[in-house]
Parts: sequence; C-alpha cells; structure tokens
Amino acid sequence: MKVIVIGSSHGGFEAVEELLLDYPEAEIQWYEKGDFVSFLSCGMQLYLEGLVKDVNSVRYATKEGMEKKGVHVFVQQEVTEIHPEKHEVTVHNLVDDQKRIEKYDKLIVSTGAVPVNLPVPGNDLENIYFMRGRDWAIKLKKATVEPEIQNVVVIGSGYIGIEAAEAFSKAGKQVTVIDILPRILGTYLDPEFTDVLAPELEQHHVKLALGQSVQKFVGEAGKVKQVVTDKGTFDADLVVEAAGVKPNTAWLEGTLELNQDHTIKTDRYQRTNQPDIFAVGDATYVNYAPTDQMSKIALATNARRQGRYAVKNLEKENTPTPAVSGSSALSVFKYHFASTGVKDATADSSHLKVASVYVEDTFRPPFVPADHNAKVQFKLTYSPENGRILGAQIMSTADVTANINTISFAIQQHATVNDLAYADFFFQPGFDRPWNIMNVAAQKAQREME
Ligand code: FAD
Repeated sequence: MKVIVIGSSHGGFEAVEELLLDYPEAEIQWYEKGDFVSFLSCGMQLYLEGLVKDVNSVRYATKEGMEKKGVHVFVQQEVTEIHPEKHEVTVHNLVDDQKRIEKYDKLIVSTGAVPVNLPVPGNDLENIYFMRGRDWAIKLKKATVEPEIQNVVVIGSGYIGIEAAEAFSKAGKQVTVIDILPRILGTYLDPEFTDVLAPELEQHHVKLALGQSVQKFVGEAGKVKQVVTDKGTFDADLVVEAAGVKPNTAWLEGTLELNQDHTIKTDRYQRTNQPDIFAVGDATYVNYAPTDQMSKIALATNARRQGRYAVKNLEKENTPTPAVSGSSALSVFKYHFASTGVKDATADSSHLKVASVYVEDTFRPPFVPADHNAKVQFKLTYSPENGRILGAQIMSTADVTANINTISFAIQQHATVNDLAYADFFFQPGFDRPWNIMNVAAQKAQREME
C-alpha cells in the first residue's frame, strides 16, 4: 500500500508515526512545501524569550531521522492538486519548478491553517508579522533585539497574541494589545480570571486597547508606523497579527467537500467525501465533547489525535476519533491558567444552558506559610438540568494547571458533579489540601442543584 501524507506539522507527523506502527510494510511519502520538516509553532514563545536557543530544534522530527525509519520525505514540494478519481496527486517541486504525478492508495491531508491578514488598508506594509511557522519565528526573534523597533502592536488577545505580547514585553518593547472583544483571552477565560490577568499585563507595560476594531495601518517609507482603530491611533514599529487563522484549503475547492468556513468536511473517522482521502488538523473540525457537535478548535493536541485516528480508520471504519474539549494552558507572567470545555463566556455560542460555581482556596492547607501557599481560583461549569460537567478554568501563581486534564476527561466520559464531588484525589500538604479544589467546587455545585 502506498500512502501519501501532506503537511509535516502536528497532524502529518502523527499520521506518519501511526503508519509506521500499523503499516510497517507501507510505502509512505511525506510532503512539505516549506524547507523545514515539523516546525512546532507551540514552541515559538520559548524561542522568542531565549529559553530555547536554536530555532531548528523546535521540532519533533528531522528529514534524515524519518528517512532512517523508511519514510520518503519530500521538502519544498507542494501538492497542488488531487485527482480523486485516478488516485493521483500533482506535486510541484519548488526547487526546480518541475511538476509530476504521484499515485496513492490512501491520502492523508494535514495542510493546516494560515494566519488571517486583516482586510484593511495598509495590510501589505513592511513590519506586519505573523506568529506561525519557522520563517516568522526567525523574523520575530530578530525584531526582539532590533533597536529601531520600540512600539509593538499585537492584534488579537487570544493565547497566541498574549504569547507575543509577553515575549516582546520581556524584550523591553512598549507593547499594545488590540482586540475587538472587551476582555483579553475572552474565549478561554471568564471575567473572574481575566480581571486578574489584565492588570498583570499592564504592570508589565503591556497596554490593552480592547473593544475596538482595526480600521487601517498607516505607513511611512513602506513600513508600518501606526495602527488606527475605531477608537484610537497607536504607534507601531512592528505589528504582530494574531487575529485568528483560516484553513489552508483554497487549493481543494471543487475537489473535497468543504464546510462554510472552508475547513475540510470530515466524518468522525477523518474521512472526507472522497474515497481513500482523509483529512486532519487545523483544516478540519473536531468532535466537541460538551456538545457532541463537530466544531473548529485549532490545537496541536487535536491534530495529533486526528492524525493517529485517520490511520486507525484507513482501511475500514474502526473507531471514531475521541471527542475533545478544547483544553489549553498558558502562563501570563507570574500566573498559570488552564481551561477546558464551556465557559459562561462561550455558553451561548455552544447553545448550551449552563450553571457555574466559582471557588477560591489556597493551594495547600492553611498552616503552610502564605509565601508557600498561593491562592487558587477555580470555576466549574455544568448542566443545571442533569449536573453533567461541561467545562472548567483554573488559575494560580502555583502551577495547578494539570487539574484541567481531569476535568477534560470527566467531560469526555459524561461525568456529573455527583461523580466529581467525592472523587478520590490524593492529599499531601506539599501539593494540595485534603479536598482537592475540584471536589470543593463539585460539592458546591451539588448543593446549588438541590
Ligand atoms: P499546520 O501546523 O498548520 O501545518 C501545516 C503544514 O502543511 C505546514 O508545514 C505547511 O507548510 C504544510 N503544507 C500546507 N499545504 C501544503 C501543500 N499543499 N503541500 C505540502 N505541504 C503543505 N496548540 C496546542 O495544542 N498547544 C499549544 O501550546 C499551541 N501553541 C501554539 C502557539 C502558536 C504561536 C501557534 C501559531 C499555534 C499553537 N498551537 C498550539 C496550535 C498548533 O500549532 C496547531 O493546532 C497545529 O500546528 C496544527 O497542525 P496541522 O498539522 O493541522 O497544520
């Protein structure tokens, strides 16, 4: 069997890894249009802040390493067309500009997404950058030490925008974050948390310009100099656009069935509408556990899971890709937060009726001195009708983020507040309190449901 995998990031990498395990005899061709295999944008902040020194180390696989495992790796080779009826693809070699046809038995598409460039005047000016992929990582890193770059405007206060803001603030730049939403991280956290994080950013000289939309970029000698919104004008020697991503699927129009937002339509086995063609990653939807609906949640964890399941379902409908809850975590200077599933802020868009309980506690028992006993904030979201757990958020200066994985699992397993209220979690004063904060919140939810 010959399998072609397109895209060398998270989804493509995992598909290849699973193929090596499940189909050791298969001929695997792996295509990447860039000149680098398997760059991990998730590691960009660590590189920009200098913790990781070598941009080329921000990856899971090398061409040589994968070739040693028997994979045929093709870099700077773009798959430009799929011919489903003939089981063929057209490959454009970007080095010698030659095109060729390759046959496949099975095809896995993980061509991901690209950052949105806001459709406003001046968006083609120099020094408007994006935070995705190795080439932008190198340019952004250079900008962190460029003396002419003093004012950095980040557009978008999702986790990528906040990562960019923190990296440039730590590099000593004057940073402004603009967002159309009235709160930072508006789809990740409810106000109990963002009301703490906003001043934390401001204390680190990150100015927040929220509830406003970008109207245009103004330039001087071809370079961006200002960002104009409906509420103000902000000086900018550099703009980092982190205002969302769009699926990299223009080349698939008319070949594969796409959703309205141009993501590739798949079923829960990662199959597209064409036989023997599978799709995974940011270019697709995932099954969102709280609603059991296909939804767009662009995360590496999802792409990886889907890559594995595309292969598990390669020859026959075996097992659907497990539902996910959109779990993510981030540090914002001294705070660490994680969230999963539905929040009050996203309940309407999920079309779910929700109730929430919010609790604050100390990390360890009260006898532990305050300087070793950080405050923990936790919010549990559940169905007021049947107590099903639907989401949670946690934040502290101590790293308690891993609790959110428990909640993510609870959501996936359709657990209720009754299941969680007295669930068995360890206690040791060095780590937590006799009742884990998840127990405490679920017990409170139980009382509110009585
Ligand atoms: P992509 O990563 O979009 O990669 C697609 C690849 O396909 C690219 O290499 C592209 O060059 C190649 N390609 C495209 N078209 C073709 C073609 N026609 N022929 C050949 N090659 C092609 N997620 C998390 O879970 N945790 C995190 O901490 C996290 N941090 C992030 C931080 C940043 C700054 C960014 C930008 C993203 C982060 N993500 C994180 C999201 C995560 O990076 C994406 O969800 C993930 O990369 C999606 O993988 P993918 O395989 O769908 O495609």
